[in-house]
Amino acid sequence: TKNLLEVKNLKQYFPIKGGVLGRTINHVKAVDDISFSVKEGETVSIVGESGCGKSTTGRAILRLDNPYAGEVMFDGEDLLSLNKKEMRKKRNDLQIIFQDPYASLNPRQTVSQILEEAMEIQNVVPKNERRKVIEELLQTVGIGAHQIDRHPHEFSGGQRQRVGIARALSVNPKLIICDEAVSALDVSIQAQVLNLLKDLQRKFQLTYLFISHDLGVVRHISDRIIVMYLGKIVEIADKKSLFENPQHPYTYALLSAIPSTNIGEKKERIILKGDVPSPINPPSGCRFHTRCPFAFDRCRTEEPKLHHVDGEQQAACHLVEDGKINLAELSLQAN
Ligand code: SF4
Ligand code: MG
Repeated sequence: TKNLLEVKNLKQYFPIKGGVLGRTINHVKAVDDISFSVKEGETVSIVGESGCGKSTTGRAILRLDNPYAGEVMFDGEDLLSLNKKEMRKKRNDLQIIFQDPYASLNPRQTVSQILEEAMEIQNVVPKNERRKVIEELLQTVGIGAHQIDRHPHEFSGGQRQRVGIARALSVNPKLIICDEAVSALDVSIQAQVLNLLKDLQRKFQLTYLFISHDLGVVRHISDRIIVMYLGKIVEIADKKSLFENPQHPYTYALLSAIPSTNIGEKKERIILKGDVPSPINPPSGCRFHTRCPFAFDRCRTEEPKLHHVDGEQQAACHLVEDGKINLAELSLQAN
């Protein structure tokens, strides 16, 4: 299968103004030179703590904020070369679903009006067919066509997110970016919405970029997982490798926090100490060195490259430069 999305050397720096003259005195390096791809029909997740740059990456791909530098190839086309009008048209192919559907749904509109507005902007369905298509869409997302004239407040959180999904689907997209799409929902509702997303993927050949702070959530839906820390990719792996044998200490620490995983049950867990440092002046060398239990001298001065460890699994850590490591064993020694 071909790559639907290719992100190359993406940087998103936000200027910090200061001084009497209000000049740019520094930058928040929210995303700092990341590259990855997403294959057609694949679900790739980006995971990390808040402030790691995952949402910023999603917004930059859609050009909700124009990237500072880099390349975003979508379906063979460079999105960053499109003008505003062309980009608006592209939004048929790339949609985003946010955490809080309530904030993104106009409370005065009915479901029918919300979906019709999306269709009108993108002009994909002729006007006289829209109501019928909307009824079908509501059925598809499990809401029921009879709810078509209700308002967002008449729905539960899970149903509202289904409306948000229906709205995204209404323009017939290829890629949907889900930014913490189930994070505000109860665990049982989360599972239902994740299952719905999976069904829709099969039915409509969708590709997902799934952004979440929670490895437990992305576990069921992802084919591959990208772990970010302070604006950098620290690990990329297929789901199985990542959960069974993570190669970056930060991934290992994230997994340690999930009791139901292999690692979360063991005594060789790593519990992360301290806060995420500021992305304005990130730590020198490896950005994780201030919190890494394995840090050694070199980590403070030399930034690790993203090394191919095993097949497609890549990790940005000096410890893996000669190949695969066993972090469980190393953790036992470190504890
Ligand atoms: Fe830890 Fe050093 Fe690896 Fe960074 S490079 S994750 S500090 S061991
Ligand atoms: Mg976010």
